[in-house]
Amino acid sequence: MSTNTSTTDQTTAGATTAGATTDHSDDVGETSLAAYEPSGAGVSVGSEELTALGAALRSAADGTFGDTRAEMRALLVAEGLTRDPSMSVAEARDWTRNAIATLAAQGRGGAGFPTSLGGDGGLASSIVNFESLALADLSLTVKVGVHFGLFGGAIVSLGTDEQAAEFIPRVITLDLPGAYAMTEIGHGSNVQALETTITYDRQTDEFVVHSPTESATKTYIGNAAQDAQMAVVYGQLEVAGEQHGIHAVLVPVRDESGSPRPGIALGDNGAKGGLDGVDNGTIRFDQVRVPRSMLLSRYGGVTAEGVYESPIDNQNRRFFTMLGTLVRGRICVAGGAAQAARKALSIATRYGMARRQFDAPGREGEVVLLDYLAHQRKLLPAIATAYALAFAQDEINNAVATVQGKPVGERDQKAQRELETRAAGLKAVSTRFANDTIQMCREACGGAGYMAENGLTELRRDADVFATFEGDNTVLLQLVAKGLLTNYKEMWGDLDMLGMVQAAVRTFSGTVIERTAARPAIERIMATAQRTSDADTVLERSWHVVMFEEREQHVLDSLAQRMRTAGKDESKAFEAFNATQDHVLFAARTHIDRVVLEAFIAGIESCEDEESKRVLNLLCDLYALENLSGDRGWFQEHGRMSSTRAKAIIPAINQRCRELRPLALPLVEGMGVPEQLLQSAMLQG
Ligand SMILES: Cc1cc2nc3c(=O)[nH]c(=O)nc-3n(C[C@H](O)[C@H](O)[C@H](O)COP(=O)(O)OP(=O)(O)OC[C@H]3O[C@@H](n4cnc5c(N)ncnc54)[C@H](O)[C@@H]3O)c2cc1C
Repeated sequence: MSTNTSTTDQTTAGATTAGATTDHSDDVGETSLAAYEPSGAGVSVGSEELTALGAALRSAADGTFGDTRAEMRALLVAEGLTRDPSMSVAEARDWTRNAIATLAAQGRGGAGFPTSLGGDGGLASSIVNFESLALADLSLTVKVGVHFGLFGGAIVSLGTDEQAAEFIPRVITLDLPGAYAMTEIGHGSNVQALETTITYDRQTDEFVVHSPTESATKTYIGNAAQDAQMAVVYGQLEVAGEQHGIHAVLVPVRDESGSPRPGIALGDNGAKGGLDGVDNGTIRFDQVRVPRSMLLSRYGGVTAEGVYESPIDNQNRRFFTMLGTLVRGRICVAGGAAQAARKALSIATRYGMARRQFDAPGREGEVVLLDYLAHQRKLLPAIATAYALAFAQDEINNAVATVQGKPVGERDQKAQRELETRAAGLKAVSTRFANDTIQMCREACGGAGYMAENGLTELRRDADVFATFEGDNTVLLQLVAKGLLTNYKEMWGDLDMLGMVQAAVRTFSGTVIERTAARPAIERIMATAQRTSDADTVLERSWHVVMFEEREQHVLDSLAQRMRTAGKDESKAFEAFNATQDHVLFAARTHIDRVVLEAFIAGIESCEDEESKRVLNLLCDLYALENLSGDRGWFQEHGRMSSTRAKAIIPAINQRCRELRPLALPLVEGMGVPEQLLQSAMLQG
């Protein structure tokens, strides 16, 4: 075991962050310490042998649903549910179809559905399943998400109990493969502008589903090209000549032999940028008739007398309530993306622990990549963020179970809105993180990282679109900001500039940042905070909390102020909105960053293993400092950070990297990706 140490002069080496070269002549330190020396015996976890610290970190990061995660890991390893990246698109689709059938045959299709319908009754279990599958194969993950999560989830959430009872048992067993047909060629983000029509025909007591234009064609629809027999189709509902806005209707699209039903034209989107195992396709409807009972009618349906009825009068409110019930899809995508990033980080870090380049005086052999500060600075802050997101994900998974565990009519509306805001934000932040991290990991493995057999290129191709589906990230962040501006007051409107500006105009008394469940832990930290020198402060948790809070509060206040000033004249609403759009996105991001930090803090508080707690605290420092480092310019421009503190951040990051470097193996183990699922030839032998 190497115990080599070396000294690097930062004045000449130059550490970089956020694209800027920094000069820290006072930051001179060792760039490596001895590799981790396990203090006790290894621990058997399923089919894996882990260090004691790795197992303890995994247990902490796995959180509330640790048992389900462990079960899923064991299943994925036992069934070998990883795919050879050299498969053709046709082979990948066959493989994925067989893999989802295996999961259904093992009874995994019931995750997240009510027990009365044959499910496991655990609301968060479908999310945890989805997240876990992302450790193995993202095509399989997405196919499971489309069929069980989107198709099945929409029937349960938007349909009546009778409709759910009729269809869900066949969804669970995969006897009724389904699709979720919302997006059209003409509109993806702007769902309220969909063109597909769902018109009630009083004479035959049927709905007529129709694509009136080319741009009304449903597109990118998962399962549409080959497998779906039925689709949840979104369109504009018209009853007796009156428009009732977006509703969803079940439409059989293929018969059991796989042929399109009359009036249905199905197409194949063909080769994509990734997700080769998912058969995305197009659907067009030519006056397709379905019985009245096929309209998913929980939030609006037609009586036997041909009269439209809905428990929610306001069309906008109905629309957002309907979409809000489907929040689990976004949470799944957030969690799945973070898992893909953990897999990439596991590959790149294990490679970085073994690969050597260049001799250095006083060292035996060439230097291990992970002993280079630059390499540590790539991987360790990302590992810290991966841990932070694990705690944030656990928090939101628990929130789903709490908020949506009640019957629809009894749900806490404020908590539901908060859940939707967080889901949108976490999805945007996690998927951005995944894309950046996987690319970084690919580069961190040099040429080997570019070879498909080493697992990173397929991951990068597949995770890419997570930034777009289940809501484009830019659009989602606007949704987050709008939620913050309204302070969750009853304010219904679509995601347009007028709604946003009106929200700001109504926010007279200054914005109030919304609190998270971690509040008691935060208050304890603030109460025990010590006064230290400017430079030392940067390693104090209370300072991190204050900086994250002040940034969010300031950005939100100034956003409301700008919109209010500019938006008094409604006719200028678009200009007011558009002129602040960058500000809107920044406000949303700073909010989610704070939520993630607080979840991390709460997770550390509830961790019972002292050594894990110590390591998690180092990681939390790194997460907070790296995050603040990216906004040092903003903090200084706004007089919120002294130059002494701003300058102390990079040495503090380097210090934490040095301290965490020897723990690389347990840190990787703690991220929870079994070695058997890494699919990386360069790590063998
Ligand atoms: C592989 C894949 C699988 C999919 N699976 C399904 C599925 O099963 N079912 C389904 O219904 N859909 C599916 N989709 C569709 C997906 O949900 C949409 O692509 C997504 O919602 C974005 O819509 P769009 O493609 O129309 O992009 P657009 O809405 O046209 O967005 C394009 C760009 O414009 C920007 N933009 C849009 N509006 C604004 C604004 N107000 N302000 C600033 N910028 C803006 C966006 O940020 C984005 O960068 C899938 C897509 C893909 C690629």
